[in-house]
Amino acid sequence: MKKWIFSVALIFSLDLQDTKFQKMIVHDHSVTPGLFKPYENEHLSPETIHSSYLAVKGMKLDKFSGENLEKLNVAFSLVEKVVNTAEFKDRIINFKNSAGKREFASNKGLTNEEIYQIFMDGREILQDNTPGEMNFYLKLYYNPFSRVIGYTNSDTNLIHINWRFFKNYHPSDVAANLAHEWVHKIGFDHISAKEHDSVPYAIGYIVGDMAKKLLKSHQLIH
Ligand SMILES: [Zn+2]
Repeated sequence: MKKWIFSVALIFSLDLQDTKFQKMIVHDHSVTPGLFKPYENEHLSPETIHSSYLAVKGMKLDKFSGENLEKLNVAFSLVEKVVNTAEFKDRIINFKNSAGKREFASNKGLTNEEIYQIFMDGREILQDNTPGEMNFYLKLYYNPFSRVIGYTNSDTNLIHINWRFFKNYHPSDVAANLAHEWVHKIGFDHISAKEHDSVPYAIGYIVGDMAKKLLKSHQLIH
């Protein structure tokens, strides 16, 4: 079995800003703060949206030990690293759905910017007194017959994760899954597992993609 040898400190010390992305920000000064209208399809500069640091907290990690716990901790580090970047901000506020419109599906009438700010505020519906924190209550279970990767519901902060999938997951897949499930905790849903433009799915994909690139670019996989 693959052994994940990562240093959390090492992941935190990585700089995700590549030069191409820096250039993109620097050269896009077409939008002045306050002048854009919601749903306008223009590219928004991430600098126009304020956000403070969002920290990942493992509040309760039931049945995680050994390699599972190690992989989970790497995923936590990846999520925290990714969500605090300017690139993540840019990809959320400039997210376009499959119809090319700058909005998420099942967005509760909120703009991309509002959704980004709710995300970064870190207030779960059931735990709104801990701003700046992504609080995770997780339980690992094993159902070899289920096709469910993980599940949760709106009356609890607990997220169940099926080891059937978790055991083969790359830490970046775990990061994507954690982001998806946590977005449910801040009040967003999807009408089906096919609603890829929904807030949980779209943000999960963005986190997974960025986490994968982060690990790949620094060759942290041993
Ligand atoms: Zn979901």
